[in-house]
Amino acid sequence: MLSLLQEKLEGAFKKLRGHAKISESNISESMREIRMALLEADVDFKVAKDLIENIKTKALGEEVLRTVSPSQQIVKIFHDEMVELLGRETAPLDLGQPQRILVAGLNGAGKTTTSAKLALLLKKQGKRPLLVACDVFRPAAVKQLAVLGESIGVPVFQPSPDEKDAVRAAQQGMEWVKQQGGGIAIYDTAGRQEVDDELLAELVKIRESLQPQEVLLVADAATGQQAVSVAKTFNDSIKVTGLILTKLDGDARGGALLSMKQVTGCPVKFVGVGEKMEQLEVFHPDRMAQRILG
Ligand code: GDP
Repeated sequence: MLSLLQEKLEGAFKKLRGHAKISESNISESMREIRMALLEADVDFKVAKDLIENIKTKALGEEVLRTVSPSQQIVKIFHDEMVELLGRETAPLDLGQPQRILVAGLNGAGKTTTSAKLALLLKKQGKRPLLVACDVFRPAAVKQLAVLGESIGVPVFQPSPDEKDAVRAAQQGMEWVKQQGGGIAIYDTAGRQEVDDELLAELVKIRESLQPQEVLLVADAATGQQAVSVAKTFNDSIKVTGLILTKLDGDARGGALLSMKQVTGCPVKFVGVGEKMEQLEVFHPDRMAQRILG
């Protein structure tokens, strides 16, 4: 994961080794290379530019510590700046009332898989998750959730095949949750191939109806900058409370992750790192920064 970015950054930092002091002249080439590496890794242009500016200002302003080399010092500054960009702290899932989690995203982003993964994660924490299928457009998606729910031992609400209204399906889901005696209900919604007004209007209505305490947007990290703009558009319409980036296992670039928080203003709460049900991880900015730096 992120291997290309990692490799390029390592190369750029190597060039700094052997210098006794951090100076404008000896870091400018490395900074240029780091900036290129970030852009190639699909980091948003402005985010990359600001990151480099901040590192430069801090690096040049700092005394070279006797105990560490200038390159280690810059790696440390870079690490801290990345942690800041990635959101600094882990953003915990709000499990308070009304214990409803709305999951949204485009088709293929990984909504259904991630809804089930999240249910498993909660179950392992001793919570009582329930899954609600609201996709009235694709019966296959409802079936998929039912199969996944069965595999992890979590009950799944399936709307009637005749139901064509997603808002009504969500409301029926709420009734079903009550009948089940309550729990943390995860509502898996329908997507589209791309963001369109109809989808957003439908999600706005579902959001109003459910009044969830969590609205999670699932985005495919492999789509890079597109994932960032999708997240921004969704957030503008349905006010997202957290992001889940999927397919980080297969993504060699991963720059979307670095731009996500900055561009959308929403914290990344989880990352998907594989197709298996256990492959959803709580997102730790600090660990991710370390991973990127290798
Ligand atoms: P939806 O249309 O948004 O509901 O997407 P799905 O949940 O059906 O996922 C689409 C495909 O992406 C499926 O084949 C999933 O197994 C796969 N997928 C989801 N999350 C991940 C992930 O984190 N890593 C990998 N490698 N594949 C994933």
